[in-house]
Amino acid sequence: MIQITMPLNFLGTVYREIRQALVDMGEMFDLLEQPAEVQDRPDARPLSVTGGEIEFDDVVFGYDPERPILKGVDITVEAGQTIAVVGSSGAGKSTIGRLLFRFYDVVDGAVRIDGQDIRDVTQESLHQQIGVVPQDTVLFNDTVGYNIAYGRAGASRKDIEAAARAAEIHDFIIGLPEGYDTVVGERGLKLSGGEKQRVGIARTLLKDPPILLLDEATSALDSETESEIQRSLRQMSAGRTVITIAHRLSTIADADQIVVLENGIVVERGRHDELLAQNGRYASLWHRQQMDEEDAA
Ligand code: ADP
Ligand code: MG
Repeated sequence: MIQITMPLNFLGTVYREIRQALVDMGEMFDLLEQPAEVQDRPDARPLSVTGGEIEFDDVVFGYDPERPILKGVDITVEAGQTIAVVGSSGAGKSTIGRLLFRFYDVVDGAVRIDGQDIRDVTQESLHQQIGVVPQDTVLFNDTVGYNIAYGRAGASRKDIEAAARAAEIHDFIIGLPEGYDTVVGERGLKLSGGEKQRVGIARTLLKDPPILLLDEATSALDSETESEIQRSLRQMSAGRTVITIAHRLSTIADADQIVVLENGIVVERGRHDELLAQNGRYASLWHRQQMDEEDAA
């Protein structure tokens, strides 16, 4: 028996690792989208994060070299600040996140974290320092405890519970039939959109990265759940450098800096009240959304 189960266990581990790697990438990006092969340089060093300043320096990028998506984007996020990237669908907002994660290399310009070009550091160290909360958190068909612990290998049950408490999902979990050992996901207990996002937040809190990337993290939720999850995201953002990609502008009005992206170019930047006073692109997006919300109410 032992001779048979050992290789099977081993295969199970390998399979699980491959599946995790795939789902991890797919978490933020379409599962079917094949990221380009980006290799570590032979002399790549681990990224050393001191404060977490992010710099996009005149970044040019296109998935297809014939069709540029970002056409010279300059963005600086000071350590500990929150920047919001807004703009219409297809403007290139998620592409900024993909480049920060180095799923693709820039065509021209550079992306730097604390002064280090991300092409010079190991991808493993880069990915360790960035927590991602996508629009829809992917759950593994495994226990809810495992799904949270996935944020940090070897986390203790105590750490997992602390993260779940901070994400305000602990009380919900202990009410489940088997508590933290309850299987969730497609073949287990189905969680609501808000519950899944809380598991994603707990996962990220456990990982405790200095940099956060929130890509429309609440855009799939109803507005009541959205404002509850926004509160948790705001708490998680304290003391970290955050890039938040937002659909509803009301969720990012308090960002330190708002960048409006149009056709791969930054057309406006500033704080919410500054941009409203400019009465340009941001102001018109804002007024349109305010009217839509009044209509809906
Ligand atoms: P946003 O998040 O602002 O809606 P994206 O950054 O996702 O926009 O996409 C910007 C543009 O890049 C869109 O025109 C989109 O179709 C294109 N695009 C996104 N991903 C890919 C890809 N993997 N291959 C080719 N084009 C892509
Ligand atoms: Mg997007």
